[in-house]
Amino acid sequence: MGTNKDDTKFGTHVVHSGTQHIGDAVNTPIFQSSTYKLTEERYAGWAAGAQHTLLYARMSTVNSDAVAQKLTALEGGEDAETFSSGMAAISTTMLALLEQGDHVVASADVYGGTYGLLATELPRFGVHTTMADMQDPSSYEAAIQENTKMLYIETLTNPVLKVCDIEAMVAVAKRHDLLIVIDNTFASPWGCQPLTMGVDLVIHSTTKYLGGHSDLIGGAVVGSKDLIAEIFKRKIHFGGSPDAHSSYLLERGMRTLDVRMPRICENAAEIARRLEAHPMVVRVYHTQLESHPDYEVAQRTMPKGSGMVAFVVKGGDDAALKFMRNLNIIYEATSLGGVESLIECPFNSSHMFVPEDVRVAAGVVPGFVRLSIGIEDKDDLWADIAQALAAV
Ligand SMILES: *Cc1c(COP(=O)(O)O)cnc(C)c1O
Repeated sequence: MGTNKDDTKFGTHVVHSGTQHIGDAVNTPIFQSSTYKLTEERYAGWAAGAQHTLLYARMSTVNSDAVAQKLTALEGGEDAETFSSGMAAISTTMLALLEQGDHVVASADVYGGTYGLLATELPRFGVHTTMADMQDPSSYEAAIQENTKMLYIETLTNPVLKVCDIEAMVAVAKRHDLLIVIDNTFASPWGCQPLTMGVDLVIHSTTKYLGGHSDLIGGAVVGSKDLIAEIFKRKIHFGGSPDAHSSYLLERGMRTLDVRMPRICENAAEIARRLEAHPMVVRVYHTQLESHPDYEVAQRTMPKGSGMVAFVVKGGDDAALKFMRNLNIIYEATSLGGVESLIECPFNSSHMFVPEDVRVAAGVVPGFVRLSIGIEDKDDLWADIAQALAAV
């Protein structure tokens, strides 16, 4: 099974699409070989550009091709390339599609690594970015210049969980004939399929929900055959290719995406509702709460929910730290999207080097914590949160 242009449902694609039944194996076996015997067929593949040809593992592996095909089906794309990390996927995509003199419109609350790439690395090569507001498509439109080439957005931002109005952003991109690229990591293709809304390229840190078990680092980009071929040409020069073993783990993780996500989202919505009613909690952010500023947009772009919950603990950062350290089931760790719940304070992790006034203006007020909900029992999760809040 290759694409999802047929009637096959998501839950079948996650299990079967892309899986390589070599030697009649039910699962894609781990192909731990850096290179392959050159045959006429392989020379022909090389001459045609080498994409998805088994020549050398920087170009393609059986296991990374299985992942690429599965993700292509899940996002409804034509093709995909996979990478050794989410940042390798993002940087290779930018370096493939942007040239000296080009301009990008993005938002200051993009993922920290992406912000660093746009704000400090790409300017060294003559590519400049204007930071607009992800919540306001008209701010993106106002930032467009003569030399603008790309609009860059995220489905759901970190850590304030702003929701992007993808369709409105696509309309801006189409009006000005620009590429529009989205980082869909926080939603996963179960939660949102931006290609179906007209986005050109979807990027994932597969480290998160797609892998789903906090045991690998990876990235991917999905889109049209032409754009992915351009990105592949640069991937083999920049070298951020994934290895067979992590690709195997990723494929294995992806196969349960359709059962993990409903559980995660149900848990997250319930925890968010209970937090909202707790006297020690000042404010809660979750896309399924009607109090969320982007509730209406979330109902259109990712109606099935999300696994991220952010909230503000009464008493500021000291109280938030005390609360986190009182937890027994939920671990204090960076990253998200695994089967286990993880919690962190942005002020001493993802936003450590963001000046305090900028952080507060972005909504990361004292006491702010970010929670990635896992698949544990929701009553156990709530009991852990309640006892930890009570002990602050
Ligand atoms: C984690 C993350 C990245 C970077 O991915 P790595 O796999 O850590 O390189 C990019 N974007 C988002 C939204 C992320 O959460």
